[in-house]
Amino acid sequence: MTKEAPGAAGTAAEGEDQKPAKDSIWGKATRRARAGAATPGTIAADRRVAIADGADCEATIHQRPRQSTSTRRVARITDAVVGLPMIVRRTTVGRRALVWRTADGKWWRKGGVVQIRQQSSGERAFVLTLFKGANAQDAQFLTDIVRDARNGIALELWSRTEAEWADEMTFLFDSSRPYCDPYTSHDYSAPAEVCAEPLCRHPWHGEAEIVHELDSVGGEAYSITICRLDYEEEWYVDVDVHQSDFSPSQLLGFVNDLQWMRAECEKTNATKIKEQE
Ligand SMILES: [Zn+2]
Ligand SMILES: [Zn+2]
Repeated sequence: MTKEAPGAAGTAAEGEDQKPAKDSIWGKATRRARAGAATPGTIAADRRVAIADGADCEATIHQRPRQSTSTRRVARITDAVVGLPMIVRRTTVGRRALVWRTADGKWWRKGGVVQIRQQSSGERAFVLTLFKGANAQDAQFLTDIVRDARNGIALELWSRTEAEWADEMTFLFDSSRPYCDPYTSHDYSAPAEVCAEPLCRHPWHGEAEIVHELDSVGGEAYSITICRLDYEEEWYVDVDVHQSDFSPSQLLGFVNDLQWMRAECEKTNATKIKEQE
């Protein structure tokens, strides 16, 4: 997995700079006032999130479009994107998670966007941008969209980006997910954080306590994972055993996996210490 910094194209691609007017739904004062007036514990009480309720809704924000895409076009895009890496980054232009309502009274939420585009390195990738206030469910929704695109699913939700910097294989996923009434509902989803550990296999984290994972083996009987708590220096081995009876050959596999993971964990910690010296 790649965790390189996105190129300069990212800023342009992500959308125009949204320096909010003081009285807009994006403005700090508006969000604070709304949060202060809301029932404590509800989504509306979270001032990190912007809420558009009715007339404020921008035309560019839309729900999942339903127009169909030609099979030929879908096949062409699928072939081109199936093997692309996914890069997760934070917004560089200060875009913020938005909760909004359509005329039919339904609520929607958008915590980020995904682009298919060429990096400054020349490599094309899925670039997942998390907005301020994005939570784990926002990040998971966008991650699932990437998985779907790799499988040729729901490609009609992507629109081609037409800009000077964009080539014909530059696409944007900009849709919202169905959501609940922010004035009466709670959302316990933890904030989404971009993973800063280059060795970790997770591009982002959405748990209250961040646990990086280097490697994992196992199956039905057991799982062995090399982990590191975000606030600790050392990697450790997390062993979960799901059964108590093992055949000799199963046990041999388990012991071998334990040995392998022990060595990998030790090596990783030793390398880290060496780098710090
Ligand atoms: Zn991580
Ligand atoms: Zn465990």
